[in-house]
Amino acid sequence: MTEEAFDVVVVGSCMTDLVSQAPRLPRAGETIHGHKFFIGFGGKGANQCIQAARLGVKAAMVCKVGKDFFGDNYIQNFKDNGVHTDFVGQTSDAATGAASITVNDAGENAIVIVAGANMLLGGEELQKALPAISHAKVLVCQLEISPQMSLQALRMARNNRVKTIFNPAPAIPDLDPDFYKVSDVFCCNESEAELLTGSSVTNVEEAHRAGQELLKRGCGSVIITLGPQGSVVLKAQESTSKHMPVSAVTAVDTTGAGDSFIGALAFYMANYPTMPLEEMARRANQVAAVSVQVVGTQTSYPFRHNLPAELF
Ligand code: ATP
Repeated sequence: MTEEAFDVVVVGSCMTDLVSQAPRLPRAGETIHGHKFFIGFGGKGANQCIQAARLGVKAAMVCKVGKDFFGDNYIQNFKDNGVHTDFVGQTSDAATGAASITVNDAGENAIVIVAGANMLLGGEELQKALPAISHAKVLVCQLEISPQMSLQALRMARNNRVKTIFNPAPAIPDLDPDFYKVSDVFCCNESEAELLTGSSVTNVEEAHRAGQELLKRGCGSVIITLGPQGSVVLKAQESTSKHMPVSAVTAVDTTGAGDSFIGALAFYMANYPTMPLEEMARRANQVAAVSVQVVGTQTSYPFRHNLPAELF
């Protein structure tokens, strides 16, 4: 049992990205030579937790990795970023989640994800983390672990009046309707909003409409992120929805931008509980916009000292 109170607790996934760059993608049965290989830290849950921690909150991760090299390495990565790891379990029954990514010279990719240990995060681990979840300021969940575990974590938070952010990613068509009811902020991108509402979401106008539809399902607020168009914010108690644009920047790699946005949102919700959600989204836009100007996922996430003082 931990006596510590955390600002942000994330219950979610860890993935090791194994990235090969090659002139083209191999065909079935073919072996080709690539020109660069690197290993990166990913997984939506871990990304969001690390972005929040880098902005200066006390953050804890609840997740499961394998009892293997990648698992040990990931735990060290959390420690290096100041994330509390008492609730990072290790199992011998599956490998640490991994994404094998091949990128060709045209920037196209082929990806195989093996969720591995992420899917073994269970109710027992959540019970162990209950003291941390129930005393947190904000709990964040996604869908890269068993959806039932995410729902259980969100319910635990709700029962203890802890604010919740739910990111329905990767989106699943038959999302349990209870997810909406336990989300203070339901935050998704355009393609997730499309899948969940069945309507096209490619611009601000369509995002307003999709947001209204999602709001009706019972969440407190909805944020839909729109890449270079920023985000839209809708609140259950207000009939209007607000577009929060983002400054134009030269994007070099948008991988993980959505996770940077959500990590920043969690930071603002924990640190500035009375700040209007629109202002939090405006600031989270600026944090994520910094991340798209640097190559990589977590490597591109800014620390507090990299950002202008007006964001704090
Ligand atoms: P990913 O799947 O790559 O992690 P996503 O699709 O979940 O990203 P996006 O909506 O593309 O998320 O981006 C999240 C936020 O990042 C946007 O709301 C915006 O604030 C910022 N962002 C993304 N792309 C750009 C860009 N080209 N210029 C400025 N900001 C950007």
